[in-house]
Amino acid sequence: MNEHPFSAFIDLISLDQQIRTMHQTITNLKQETESQLSEKQKIVDRLEQFKQHVHDLKKSVHEQELAIKELDALEKQKKETLENLKSAKEYQPLKKEIDRLKQEQHDAESSLMTTWNKLETAQKELNEQTAQYSSKIDEFHTAIAEQQEKVEALKADLAQKKSERPAKETGIPQEWLDKYSHMKMQVEDPVVSLLDDSCSACYYNLPNQDIIRLRHRAIVQCKGCFRLLYMQTAMEDTPSEESAGNKE
Ligand SMILES: [Zn+2]
Repeated sequence: MNEHPFSAFIDLISLDQQIRTMHQTITNLKQETESQLSEKQKIVDRLEQFKQHVHDLKKSVHEQELAIKELDALEKQKKETLENLKSAKEYQPLKKEIDRLKQEQHDAESSLMTTWNKLETAQKELNEQTAQYSSKIDEFHTAIAEQQEKVEALKADLAQKKSERPAKETGIPQEWLDKYSHMKMQVEDPVVSLLDDSCSACYYNLPNQDIIRLRHRAIVQCKGCFRLLYMQTAMEDTPSEESAGNKE
């Protein structure tokens, strides 16, 4: 009877530790998913920007080609006027204008070449990025789906463990439960064993009267860190005459 409440108590603590670990794992998985979603968004945005860049270059090529055609038409028209010229006085200014148009055309063509080259490079890079993009996005989707699956499984386990908890409290002295539920909020290991007459968590040296109580399988609160202490050897022993007598 004496050994029973303690092992039930240890069971409860280990259940709580499992629950705590599950909570932590769920939180970590959710954080991982969050960070992957934001990484994925960055890749989506980067590709969108790149597509826009290629689109702008195409538009620019188109506009420059139109401008060159207009210059062509204008030059042709001026040349025709020049051929049918009646007065010699008009020849020089018209010749000058045709030369200017030729120069303008030449400049526009070299600028178009530059834009074409830029477009070619950008298009090539976009193709490469699009190929990489798909496989990267697939990787994210797979990882996120796996994380969600794990979270769902953990949530089911967690609900199961939590439902087991009330039954695990039966047979444990209320005093232990009260002290434990208070300490549980503050430290991850609210119940620790004694180590060479000291608390194994904070190394506080226990007074003799506490050691004696611990030998009698009592749970004692450490005055150094307020954790609950027990003596491993006393708890492992089969109940002796002394402790059986002590109980009455
Ligand atoms: Zn302590």
